Amino acid sequence: MKKFTGIPGSPGIVVGKALLYADNDLYEIPRYTIRKNQIESEWKRFLTANAEAAEEVRTLHNRMIQEARREEASILDAHLMMLEDTELQDQIKERLNISLENIEWAVRSIFCDMKEKLLASPDPYLRERAADLSDVSRRVMHKLLAIKKASLTDLKSDVILVSYDLLPSDILAMNKKRVKGIVTDTGSRTSHTAILARAFAIPAVLGLSAVTKEIREGETLMVNGSLGEVIVNPDKQAAVQYQKTLDQYRKTGDALQDIRELPAETGDGRRVHLKANIEVPEEAAQAFRYGAEGIGLYRSEFLFLTSGRVIDEEEQYRAYRQVLKSMGDLPVTIRTLDIGGDKLLPEFQSGNEKNPLLGWRAIRFSLSLPDLFKTQLRALLRAGLDGNLRIMFPMISGIEELEQALAMVEEAKADCYRKGQAYMEQIAVGTMIEIPAAAMTADILAERSDFFSIGTNDLIQYALAVDRGNEKVGYLAQPFHPAILRFFKRIIDGAHARRITAGMCGELAGDPSAAALLLGLGLDEFSMIPQSIPLVKRIIRGVVMEDCRALAEEALRCTSSQQVALLLEVWMAKHFPDGEGYI
Ligand code: PEP
Ligand code: MG
Repeated sequence: MKKFTGIPGSPGIVVGKALLYADNDLYEIPRYTIRKNQIESEWKRFLTANAEAAEEVRTLHNRMIQEARREEASILDAHLMMLEDTELQDQIKERLNISLENIEWAVRSIFCDMKEKLLASPDPYLRERAADLSDVSRRVMHKLLAIKKASLTDLKSDVILVSYDLLPSDILAMNKKRVKGIVTDTGSRTSHTAILARAFAIPAVLGLSAVTKEIREGETLMVNGSLGEVIVNPDKQAAVQYQKTLDQYRKTGDALQDIRELPAETGDGRRVHLKANIEVPEEAAQAFRYGAEGIGLYRSEFLFLTSGRVIDEEEQYRAYRQVLKSMGDLPVTIRTLDIGGDKLLPEFQSGNEKNPLLGWRAIRFSLSLPDLFKTQLRALLRAGLDGNLRIMFPMISGIEELEQALAMVEEAKADCYRKGQAYMEQIAVGTMIEIPAAAMTADILAERSDFFSIGTNDLIQYALAVDRGNEKVGYLAQPFHPAILRFFKRIIDGAHARRITAGMCGELAGDPSAAALLLGLGLDEFSMIPQSIPLVKRIIRGVVMEDCRALAEEALRCTSSQQVALLLEVWMAKHFPDGEGYI
């Protein structure tokens, strides 16, 4: 038996057989010199690999057409064109002849050069093709290196997918009924894999370094996506423990279903709102199932990121409308693009910024591209007629930026008016508080915001100077650091002084052990992954405000994260002696 701990990417526990999706990666491409008389055989290897890759894409393409998945089919069309591009093939042949290195290296060099050129092109269409090129080059490389990639569409039995990483196209194509769990070497909580796994409710553990080297095809895996644990070939004791956890999980799940219809209200009547964070429109249904009282954060950038291209106004309009309609009268907060940082759009970003997390990100990105920003705002304003929409800006650092963004909303309204498009005139516009400067000036920002939502993932990252994706310093990302608690208090008090609500949509909002403390600090709204809603609701319904306020006051007097964590542990053990709500 072996046990690995990684990043809890998507909650839930599952046991099943491993399917190794790929046991190698582009970074491990062999490089060696060849003799002149080997050129011909190397070239033949390429032609075979390329033909196999093309055949694979054709099959996938036909399936997409049959299933009327036109957008995905058009992406595959572009892939096929690249695989059939004779000019590209000539370049590879020339590189092989000149460099006298193995064909894998020649292919890699040409694809890298091409990608660089595409990214540098002024033509947006060409820049967009860079993401497709990566997909295609990886497919050809897998054929050359004889890495057998199982077809994720035609799975005959249930599997747990073990992979170095997953491409968006893999996730789109996979049979989600058969893939019961996902385990990857790379990734963070905000990686595509995590986000899509959560969207499709597939338990996932990510960032396990070299786990693909440790697991063999067909081995039994126990995956706990809530804790970030993977056990390979569990012994009897682990199997018994797994069954216990599963039973408890189901029992809690059943019990939690019972409180779906009940309000998120403390024992003494303080009513708060529990909403869902979603990344793709389809997730709205899941939010509803778990009793969400609306969407507190729709990360609109994933609309662009999953397809790797800029989405036009009509397509955006349709996606926003779909979410709004599926939530009926319930409020839906759509965040404008948070592109940049670790979420790059190949059309604009090549990933060579020195400090991307401090760079061209979120509202800065949108404000510097007014046409793109206003297109999104028009799509939102128009979709606003079909539901209860609220718009939210990410990464506001000060009042000037907020004023500029608000001015853009007015310009977008004027555009709609000029074009004769129907749109919603009155829409609440809120500010994400996720930069320390915004937290410190919350009172000022509250004057021009209809609501606040605290983005703890970034607020912690920026306040404590800890890269949220870097596992080496991850231990420093302490949500209960005294500095963070003081920020929370300042933000919530700043909002309430101006009679606006203070919500939270970072990961901490879905942590049941933090709920009482956040209530005590005065938080009005908690937005989280849909699956966490019943757990947090149970805590809220099991406490009274007087106790929560006392807890918050004591926590604010603590001098270290450990002290606060210990305080919460003891408090929770006292108020929830059976550990209810903790899975
Ligand atoms: C956050 O920063 O807490 C947040 C919710 O936004 P994201 O995770 O998308 O950066
Ligand atoms: Mg953020």
